[in-house]
Amino acid sequence: MALIVHKYGGTSMGSTERIRNVALRVAKWHRAGHQMVVVPSAMSGETNRLLGLAKELAPTKADTAYDRELDMLAATGEQASSALLAIALQAQGIEAVSYAGWQVPIKTNSAHTKARIESIDDARVRADLDAGRVVIVTGFQGIDPLGNITTLGRGGSDTSAVAVAAALKAAECLIYTDVDGVYTTDPRVVPEARRLLRVSFEEMLEMASMGSKVLQIRSVEFAGKYRVPLRVLSSFTPWDIDLDTEAASGTLITFEEDEDMEQAVVSGIAFNRDEAKIAVLGVPDTPGMAYQILGPVAEANIEVDVIIQNVSKDGKTDFSFTVHRNDYQKALDLLNALVLPILGAAEVVGDTRICKVSIVGIGMRSHVGVASRMFKCLSVEGINIQMISTSEIKTSVVIDEKYMELAVRALHREFDLDQAADSISN
Ligand code: ASP
Ligand code: MG
Repeated sequence: MALIVHKYGGTSMGSTERIRNVALRVAKWHRAGHQMVVVPSAMSGETNRLLGLAKELAPTKADTAYDRELDMLAATGEQASSALLAIALQAQGIEAVSYAGWQVPIKTNSAHTKARIESIDDARVRADLDAGRVVIVTGFQGIDPLGNITTLGRGGSDTSAVAVAAALKAAECLIYTDVDGVYTTDPRVVPEARRLLRVSFEEMLEMASMGSKVLQIRSVEFAGKYRVPLRVLSSFTPWDIDLDTEAASGTLITFEEDEDMEQAVVSGIAFNRDEAKIAVLGVPDTPGMAYQILGPVAEANIEVDVIIQNVSKDGKTDFSFTVHRNDYQKALDLLNALVLPILGAAEVVGDTRICKVSIVGIGMRSHVGVASRMFKCLSVEGINIQMISTSEIKTSVVIDEKYMELAVRALHREFDLDQAADSISN
């Protein structure tokens, strides 16, 4: 018998019929003797619907008073789905109680629409569990020091579930979703992609930050910090499948490298089309140059990813970096207005038709030549690399977006991901 947290995404909670299925599944776990806490998302489409209503009345604006009301509004989606799940469980003859974040309470800071969890009081939930109840806690929300309802950012229920699991020291946090696990890459791009049985927390963090949208990135950070064992699995299996089979399905996000396990050098290929490239040309190569270019960019709250500074020639150099595509125009305008005149640089050029493709794997720590194998593979395909960045367990390249799928497929093959030892077929 263990304390288990289940999290169900919006699709899994999408209709009363699906909520009944969730209730039957949770009841199965409860009857097997586990202490169950469930964290649901709002019914699919509900958060968008609510935020859409607000937009009809007043366009989105950066205003705390407005954001406060968005949180009041959006938090109702999870309140409704949580109550419905409690009702469905009660209909199965199971004692169940639901709590909104503020009732637990889940305490957050005051950053409306993107609040961070600061602490969770586990007393109320524990008392219910000890009394044999299933406890349902709304995802996505909490309460700030002034008693205002806050939300955690889109996809935030994942983070709620992991945080609740951490606070209760749960044995495992199971994230039930509409995909059956974490794949070596997106199966829509590479049909041969395989589900990973296990992936390390660090690899998951790299993949989540690079557009693999299975989990909200903050939930992965949280799981890493508090060492919460996480499992991503399908909510579309029949609710009455064998519990042990279900408990071992999906992808487990682990902390230690399993020594018995043959570790693939590369575990996955991530990619995204969300970035754009900017180059400042003919910059005088003097101390403080990078700061003079990127300082104003950072002050404008624009996140920078890959950065390259070339060797200088005749005292001049080129400086390139990538930003999110949404920030591209803003960054370009800012550089032209503020940076060019001061630096005396020649010009600013940019390109939005790029993409970033990355190989990720903790095996890269102990193997040499992995990056060069990547570059060779891309050269064989005739794909030009525009930028490169590396970390201990990742190598990323920026290439023309029209070659993205070709690159991902070629790399998937190059690193034998179709046949990785640590994976099984669909
Ligand atoms: N309902 C919220 C959203 O749609 C939170 C979540 O589903 O995780 O973003
Ligand atoms: Mg989600």
